[in-house]
Amino acid sequence: MSGKKYVYVFAGGKAEGQGGWKNLLGGKGAGLAEMTNLGIPVPPGFTMTTEACVEYFQQGGRFPEGMWEQVLEALARVEEALGLTFGDPQNPLLVSVRSGARVSMPGMMDTVLNVGLTEETVQGLIRKTRNPRFAYDSYRRFVAMFSNVVLGVGHHEFEGLLAKKKAEMGVELDTELGPQELQALVGEFKALVQQASQVPFPEDPMDQLRMGVDAVFRSWNVPRAVTYRKLNNIPESWGTAANVQAMVFGNMGGNSGTGVAFTRDPSTGERRFFGEFLLNAQGEDVVAGIRTPESIEQLAHELPEVAQELDEIYQRLERHYQDMLDLEFTVQEGKLYMLQTRVGKRTAVAALRIAVEMVEEGLIDEKTAVLRVEPEQLEQLLHPMVDPSAPVNVIAKGLPASPGAAVGAVVFTAEEAIARGQGEKVILVRPETSPDDVGGMHAAQGILTARGGMTSHAAVVGRGMGKSCVVGCKEIVVDEARGEFRVGSVRVKRGDMITLNGNTGEVILGEAKLVTPEHSGLFGKFMTWVDRHRTLGVRANADTPEDARVAREFGAEGIGLCRTEHMFFAEERLPFMQEMIVAEDRDARVRALDKLFPFQKADFVGIFREMEGYAVTIRTLDPPLHEFLPKTWEEAQELSGKIGVPAERLWAKAQELHEVNPMLGHRGCRLGISYPEITEMQVRAIIAAACEVAKEGRRVTTEIMIPLVEDIRELEHQRKIVERVAQEVMAQYGTTVDYQVGTMIELPRSALLADEIARQAEFFSFGTNDLTQTVMGLSRDDAGKFLPFYIEQGIFSRDPFIVLDEPGVGRLVEIGVQKGRATKPHLKIGICGEHGGEPQSVAFFHRAGLDYVSCSPYRVPIARLAAAHVALGKALSDTV
Ligand code: ADP
Ligand code: MG
Ligand code: MG
Repeated sequence: MSGKKYVYVFAGGKAEGQGGWKNLLGGKGAGLAEMTNLGIPVPPGFTMTTEACVEYFQQGGRFPEGMWEQVLEALARVEEALGLTFGDPQNPLLVSVRSGARVSMPGMMDTVLNVGLTEETVQGLIRKTRNPRFAYDSYRRFVAMFSNVVLGVGHHEFEGLLAKKKAEMGVELDTELGPQELQALVGEFKALVQQASQVPFPEDPMDQLRMGVDAVFRSWNVPRAVTYRKLNNIPESWGTAANVQAMVFGNMGGNSGTGVAFTRDPSTGERRFFGEFLLNAQGEDVVAGIRTPESIEQLAHELPEVAQELDEIYQRLERHYQDMLDLEFTVQEGKLYMLQTRVGKRTAVAALRIAVEMVEEGLIDEKTAVLRVEPEQLEQLLHPMVDPSAPVNVIAKGLPASPGAAVGAVVFTAEEAIARGQGEKVILVRPETSPDDVGGMHAAQGILTARGGMTSHAAVVGRGMGKSCVVGCKEIVVDEARGEFRVGSVRVKRGDMITLNGNTGEVILGEAKLVTPEHSGLFGKFMTWVDRHRTLGVRANADTPEDARVAREFGAEGIGLCRTEHMFFAEERLPFMQEMIVAEDRDARVRALDKLFPFQKADFVGIFREMEGYAVTIRTLDPPLHEFLPKTWEEAQELSGKIGVPAERLWAKAQELHEVNPMLGHRGCRLGISYPEITEMQVRAIIAAACEVAKEGRRVTTEIMIPLVEDIRELEHQRKIVERVAQEVMAQYGTTVDYQVGTMIELPRSALLADEIARQAEFFSFGTNDLTQTVMGLSRDDAGKFLPFYIEQGIFSRDPFIVLDEPGVGRLVEIGVQKGRATKPHLKIGICGEHGGEPQSVAFFHRAGLDYVSCSPYRVPIARLAAAHVALGKALSDTV
């Protein structure tokens, strides 16, 4: 027999495991052990480790050698602690079999309650409790759950029989069924199982236990768990622990019940005990939305002593864990038991508020607070909400389960949400959600349910995904068959637009006006801490004074990329640009460029003013010229009228400029080299604007960036122009301004020759979009056709245009940095691709030694937080 320990007992106020052993015991097992050690009332039980699960799969679905013997020993200790015996017809012990991975996967793994009930033991339970109703209620729950989780019989089949029974008896609630009906249901359930699975329902408690543990291990690989792991980057290799725990019964009558609670409001973060409970109910009843639960404040009226004890326990646990917790409890005949504790999921708003307030309460320090908010979560705070001042047509009101606003077309199934959600904004409307709906929830903008409370599946998952979510909206009747939902006389059909207000719970007919929220004091305070703990700079990509202003509000420390061509697409400027492109000779080109000059200069003046005191990196013209020319003959004719050039000539020019592969064609510095007058005009505009703004007494730093350089001679060529023109303009203004010349590193050759190129450059900026395209030989505009298959097949784990490909593209970044700094040790280096706002990539750029990242204005706070996380040494494994 192998000596490895697979089973850890918690019983009699002492646990073999402890709270820190999450990897081994899973989150749930570790929490149960910790609470037991703290002397908190927890029903005794034991945990089979995640290692046992991993070995189970390695051995093709067999328990590791020696595990079952350890289970039997552990079971004996639980029996001893309670004076009950598993399978004993007189004095039966019943247990739950619960899964629990390292990180919580809400509703993803299956739990079986009341294991150990048979025709024989149920009699023992009746004799002992003198409560046949309770005994048969537990029994019918057990048969349904066990058959569903272990034998794979559809949950709805049992629900159907239950509903039929209620209809027969003319009652509405489960609690109104008597012992005879429940007993009859047990028989009907078993007949159903026999029919569906061709085997009789197991009548040996030990078989039930073994099959239950087996099913928990197997549930690690059910499709919805696999999907959840994919969406959340949880490694397949972790496995789940399995917990066996003595049952306590919330369904023993009016002084029993079950509930879930959060130590603070998971939606707003407010410091108040927050939760829901149901009297005379068991396990999942609260979460499943079967009856609408009561709020936790009500518990003080119903069961005051229990409420008092729960209050003490939650405060103690929160102090112990120093975080907001999510708790499960059950009351059996007036006695409170804790069944679970874990760090609670929360909205971004709540995460921020809790982090800041816990620092103020002295519970945690600033660094911990910074690490408590995920960079991606911040996005929720920057997201739009329903404009409070615009009139809206509110048709119903539910519970505000997850904040933010969502507008979309109504769909009624997860499949529809996935299908339509590709190109359209949709709102998923369901009676309630189950784990099977997760894919659809992901595809939808928001979720609306008719049933369930603030801790229902829809609410928990919606919050986790950062989706606007309204639950328990009792007024609506969801009629999937007719493709509509009704509120009184209002019918909302499939495809109709609605708006959800996740902050208030309102359901609004039509598209409401949305606005971006103001940033409260909390956000500002939090971001000050963030900035104190990061070393990587964060700039923004901004092309207009307006973008620059927004970027600065979001905390950008300068502009890392200003794309001058974006200015040329504006309607009143495009014709001059086009005139420049079709010009026959240099003189004609210069005349057209002179017309563009005032526009460029005015833009730069605006941007320099907004970014006063910070550096602004301006890139010279980059895209291929044909992008500016008419795409059709009709467009050519129209343009002809505007600029007085014959349509034939315009059209001929467009044909002439056509390129087979424009991405690798006449673009970037290649344009400025063939048409130096373009670079000249741009530099004149930049330096003139800088001089003007400097004369206003403002500090201006500008960095002129030459794109798509692959050879030092290209940069030399452009640099000469910049220096000559800059001297001329400064002389003209009679002043000098700070300017630097640098280049983008966006071709493999420039990264490989970065030591040479650095001789002509004061700074580098990695253009990781083009670098990804050229290193991987992957066209961003065409990759959409096959990249999804690559990801599905696991060939790529992520879209390399979203998360930087570290081994390939990242390697070239490292080479570029190392070579560039070999020539100039203090060479300033940044990155200005989309990756600059993606947390994992930001962490990489920090490690690669870059000075700053630059990203879109709205992602600036995300990049700042990601930079702080990596500086604080947040390990990669913690981020999953
Ligand atoms: P999940 O991971 O889905 O929350 P749990 O293992 O926590 O699953 O169990 C589901 C429900 O059953 C919870 O409400 C839990 O409190 C309840 N439960 C689990 N074990 C017991 C037990 N031994 N006695 C009473 N209720 C239990
Ligand atoms: Mg639970
Ligand atoms: Mg580029």
